[in-house]
Amino acid sequence: MSVPHTISVKCSVCGKSSKQTILLSSNRFGAPDLDLRPPQMMRGTMRWWIQECPRCGYVAKSLDDKTNVTSKWLQSAEYRACNDIDFSSSLAKRFYRHYLISEKQRNVNDAFYAALHAAWACDDTGDTENAVRCRTLALNELEKMIASGPSNEDFLVLKADLLRRTGAFDALIEEYQNKAFSSDLLNRIIAFQIAKAKLGDTACYTVADVEE
Ligand SMILES: [Zn+2]
Repeated sequence: MSVPHTISVKCSVCGKSSKQTILLSSNRFGAPDLDLRPPQMMRGTMRWWIQECPRCGYVAKSLDDKTNVTSKWLQSAEYRACNDIDFSSSLAKRFYRHYLISEKQRNVNDAFYAALHAAWACDDTGDTENAVRCRTLALNELEKMIASGPSNEDFLVLKADLLRRTGAFDALIEEYQNKAFSSDLLNRIIAFQIAKAKLGDTACYTVADVEE
C-alpha cells in the first residue's frame, strides 16, 4: 500500500510553511518499463515525489532543501512559463521546473531524473511531443553522467531506451549492435531495443515484454 502522509514544510527560499504530502511506503506490482519506470503502486504516486511552494514557486524533493536559486529567479518568465512549453499536465510542469532548478544548480543527476519524470507525466496525458522533448533533455543529462562517472551499465541500458523513444534509431543501432553487457538480462534488453529500433518503434515496453 502507498501511505500518503501530510506534513508542514518550510520553504528554504521564501520561508512560507505549506502542507505537503509525503509517501511513507509503496509497493510495486509487475515489471518496470525499460526506462526503469516503476510499475503500480509506485507509479501512481508521482505527484508526491516533488513539492511546489504555493507562494514562490520553488520546486524541490523537499521544500526545505537548500538552493542557490533566488525568489527573483523563480519569478522569471522562463521559469514561470516553463520556457513557453505548452505542457498538458501540471505535474509535467512541476518536474520541468525541477529540471530547470537542477540545471541552474548544475546538479546533473537531479536534472536527469526531473526531465525523465516530466516525460513520464507527459506520457500519462498523451502529450507525445513534450514527452519526446523531455526525453531529449534527459538524454543530454544522461550523456554527461556517462561521460563523467565510472562505467555504469544501467545508465547505458537506459540511454538505449531514450534513444529509441526519441526516434534516434540509427544512433541506437550503431552504438549498441556490438556491445556486450555483463548480464543475460541486459543483453536481452539491448537485443530487444535494437529489434524495435529496426522497426522504427517508439512505444513503451516493460522488462516483462523482453522476457516473452
Ligand atoms: Zn517558497
